[in-house]
Amino acid sequence: MQSASPHRTVERLRPFASTIFAEMTELAVAHDAVNLGQGFPDSDGPAAMLEVARQAIADGLNQYPPGRGMPVLRRAIARDRLDRYGTSYDPDTEILVTVGATEAISAAVLGLVEPGDEVVLIEPYYDSYAAAIALAGAVRRTARLVPDGGGFTVDLDSVRNAITPRTRMLIVNSPHNPTGTVLGRANLEAIAEIACEHDILVVADEVYEHLTFDEREHVSLSTLPGMAERTVVISSAAKTFSVTGWKTGWACGPEQLIDGVRAAKQFMTFVAGGPFQPAVAYALEHEQPWVHTLRDTLQDKYVRLSKALDEAGFDVKRSEGSYFVCADITPLGETDALDFCRKLPARIGVAAVPVSVFTDHPENWNSLVRFTFCKNEETISAGIERLHRL
Ligand SMILES: *Cc1c(COP(=O)(O)O)cnc(C)c1O
Repeated sequence: MQSASPHRTVERLRPFASTIFAEMTELAVAHDAVNLGQGFPDSDGPAAMLEVARQAIADGLNQYPPGRGMPVLRRAIARDRLDRYGTSYDPDTEILVTVGATEAISAAVLGLVEPGDEVVLIEPYYDSYAAAIALAGAVRRTARLVPDGGGFTVDLDSVRNAITPRTRMLIVNSPHNPTGTVLGRANLEAIAEIACEHDILVVADEVYEHLTFDEREHVSLSTLPGMAERTVVISSAAKTFSVTGWKTGWACGPEQLIDGVRAAKQFMTFVAGGPFQPAVAYALEHEQPWVHTLRDTLQDKYVRLSKALDEAGFDVKRSEGSYFVCADITPLGETDALDFCRKLPARIGVAAVPVSVFTDHPENWNSLVRFTFCKNEETISAGIERLHRL
């Protein structure tokens, strides 16, 4: 048989065929480097939660769960949102369990945005958003973060400028990947006002909602005036309970929005991860102290990693949460973070990711590198030691 032509992938997905993460991980493996590039934890979530999943399999919870997710999990999500944010969602109609936050995001775009409509992203942005927009045949517009006292904030004018009569949706991620920015209340209130003024739907990606440092408050966009009716809040067990492989996430929002998300979701996967659902429900109810310890441990690792980056000569940006810290390579006499990251594994045995890959305007983000600190003690210590070789 003839080998397939290299361009059988549909045109709208070709830009997403390969990712920098795969390339950097390959380089990390080839040079036996400490991988501070890929943002997944290398230690397990709470032991009792893992046991609930094992027990669920033993108990025979191995068939399709209900399309919206198991009632026990939807109720736990509803209680959690009510306890921590004071927002109430009906578990029967306003909560949908998904295959991770990733599926919730894709299904929200597919189910709520018409082909040709526009979706505004804030650069730098998590890579799945652009692919979801392409899948939907929608059009991507970008606003941006700007430097703000050692960290970042959303440039509100750039949001206003990105909006046109065809804008249907805005996707906002806080705590933010890749920068670690936790958007402040005033900044979010201004974003909410813009969304209301232009009658735009909002997807709030809050997968790092628990992981903020120095007791910094995470404000959910859904709680701001006028936002409950237009916001799909998305979160996941992946980052909160260190189970990225479980791919158990959820979307919460008003019924007419969740209906749209569900319409798309049910024909991508219908359901998934039956035995994980009662385990995540258990964790939401009983493992908040474990999450607080995770957060404190991450903060400690962030402080140590950023000190090491500072000592190595980077201009380290402030991270306020998430798994990530960004550092500028300009003081090292470097100008191209992509090139810098490609050479770093061979040079000092550390892998990291250039922030430019999270943007449509790499020229504005050429000097920033993202490092993750969501790794075990041994990995972080080794990374810190190797950074001193720079
Ligand atoms: C990890 C991550 C996701 C994906 O979460 P899953 O539950 O693993 O699908 C979504 N958004 C952001 C910003 C992330 O960092």
